[in-house]
Amino acid sequence: MRILLIGIFSFFIYQLISAQPAETFLLSKPQEGEGVWSFLRRHHLDPASETERFRQINEGRFDPNGNLYLHQEYLVPVLAEEWVDPLFGLEHQNLKIRDSELKGAVFYLVSGHGGPDPGAIGQYDEHQLFEDEYAYDITLRLAKNLLEKSATVHVIVADSLNGIRSGAYLLPDQHETVLGQVIPLDQLTRLKQRTTVINQLAKEEAATYQRCIEIHLDSRSQNKQLDVFFYHHENSPKGKEMAETISKTFEENYKKHQPQRGFSGTVNHRNLYMLKHTHPVAVFIELGNIRNFRDQQRFVVESNRQALANWLTSSIVKDFQNQNH
Ligand SMILES: [Zn+2]
Repeated sequence: MRILLIGIFSFFIYQLISAQPAETFLLSKPQEGEGVWSFLRRHHLDPASETERFRQINEGRFDPNGNLYLHQEYLVPVLAEEWVDPLFGLEHQNLKIRDSELKGAVFYLVSGHGGPDPGAIGQYDEHQLFEDEYAYDITLRLAKNLLEKSATVHVIVADSLNGIRSGAYLLPDQHETVLGQVIPLDQLTRLKQRTTVINQLAKEEAATYQRCIEIHLDSRSQNKQLDVFFYHHENSPKGKEMAETISKTFEENYKKHQPQRGFSGTVNHRNLYMLKHTHPVAVFIELGNIRNFRDQQRFVVESNRQALANWLTSSIVKDFQNQNH
């Protein structure tokens, strides 16, 4: 079979926030007696969600009844197995499908604050730690994991100049935007902006499993070591379920890796703007207290940032599987 590479026109900014594998097309002819449904099935596409687009791409190639012509070649969309996305930075921009555990799932990832608002600030030796930078780094690591598990991922708050960063101290900047829009300082305007973007994107997505995940590292008093907090909206049983699944996974991982430490994730409902107004099911996560020395280890040690992203990933896979069984 021949593989055709076709460039898809898209806006640069949209590509930036919507980290997706490049799409390629396969040219293929139907078999004797094959209808659109079985043709798509044979090419590992879900007819329920792909038929309409398949017809659009191949407009003019169907008989008057909308059936396939036997000797006609049809364009069949296939996702590239490997692709490059500069959003993740030079050292992390090569992505590769590793499995299809999250195929069909759609995520809206929001790292807290950004732009003119650094969020909470912690003091670590002579360094300052800025919440928005660490939240973004962990969010990007999570985004990459999810993409490599075949999910669709919308990175809502994005910084085109900083990808995933190594090292302990992530320098602050104000580059972050929301879909290319400048982030306003006023809190309510800021939250409305990202909520509007998520709800617009969600309208275009047909997937039944869509989740919005918001990541923060907040600030409490300095001596308060913070376990991870998970929030959902009180009228969102699916949000609650997801928060509990993530919390449980964190607990298991802490037991395994730091048994002496003890961990209790806290799941609560909370009347937060984002939880209330985003249409996809949403979970809000506080990964720790950026002012507490022990919690700070979670963020300044790069491998810990990766571990947090990995734990989030495995718990999200569990939640997705729970919803599908
Ligand atoms: Zn925050």
